[in-house]
Amino acid sequence: MDRDVMANVSRRAMVGGLVGSAATLALGGQALANGALARARVDKASGGGAKPHPDAKPGATKPAATKPAATGTTLPNGSGFYRVMVGNAEVVCIADGSGEMAGSPFPMWGANGTKAEVDAALDAEFLPREGSSFYFNCALVRSGTDVVLMDLGNGTGGGPGAGKLLPHLANLGVKPSDVTCVVFSHLHPDHFGGLTDDNGELVFDKARYFISRDESDFWSRAGVADIKGQIPDEFKKGMVAGAAGVLAKLKGKLEMADATTKLSEGLRLVSAPGHTAGHQMLMVESGAKRLAVVADLVHHVAISLRRPDLHIQFDADPAAGAATRQRVLAQLASDKTEVLAYHMPFPGFGHVRPEGKGYQWVPSLWQW
Ligand SMILES: [Zn+2]
Repeated sequence: MDRDVMANVSRRAMVGGLVGSAATLALGGQALANGALARARVDKASGGGAKPHPDAKPGATKPAATKPAATGTTLPNGSGFYRVMVGNAEVVCIADGSGEMAGSPFPMWGANGTKAEVDAALDAEFLPREGSSFYFNCALVRSGTDVVLMDLGNGTGGGPGAGKLLPHLANLGVKPSDVTCVVFSHLHPDHFGGLTDDNGELVFDKARYFISRDESDFWSRAGVADIKGQIPDEFKKGMVAGAAGVLAKLKGKLEMADATTKLSEGLRLVSAPGHTAGHQMLMVESGAKRLAVVADLVHHVAISLRRPDLHIQFDADPAAGAATRQRVLAQLASDKTEVLAYHMPFPGFGHVRPEGKGYQWVPSLWQW
């Protein structure tokens, strides 16, 4: 992948005023052109580069950085991360931030239904019919000596509210070099944008990298731009280029992973195709406890839950996406499994409860 070309695409996309659009959310769209691999020529003065988060307290990260144990930070939840214990494993949501989408979510959501159905789902959750908020919740799991990070956020290309993964990791006392394993749920730009720094170098330079074979094959195959979802052509082009850039950057380094791959004690990948061909979730099991990191199984806190049957245009295969969403949500609800979902309101932990034709998102109670 020619990084210079991507960089130019990136700048034009940003200047072109994508902020506030669906694409800015990088749910699979044009914002990927702003992804990490496009960053080499991004002028720092115009927004490139991770900046210290306002929550960051001087000196607070130093002791924790040398002692990255489960209780190794002095900062409370709310400093851009939120953690829970799942048996012996520590699962931490690291916020990459959030983004806004203007206008009605229809037909981006619900193209196989009606605007009235989408509005009904929004009304039921007391949400406005115009304008939606989305979150980017990366998952860090510390199990034994392993530090596993699932998904890398937007990098500097996700709009003004996103790209905060690194300062929030620092708040937790985790250095990029502490991360032993990076897993991509799938290759959309809001999940791989933090792969490289402004110089195009890998941020998590000590980590092993994993992805499903189906995902790698999907983005590598001839005719990849012929995606079933009704994604506008200009989005598709950037999407394909972004994924190709990741595969090129990690050539010889990216390991294929599936349910049989031993990432760490108690961690297991689960295939959940539809959003993309090789989309994977991560199950964390320790003792009698379990938690499902569901990545992009759901996107919208009202529509994806209340009406999981409604198609999402950014799903590579909207029908398969809806089928997987319904199947997995039914399982999570019946098992009463706690969930960490990438795009739910921060910190993204909760349960799903059967409600009407679908489910309701029940956030886990916040604890300081
Ligand atoms: Zn996403």
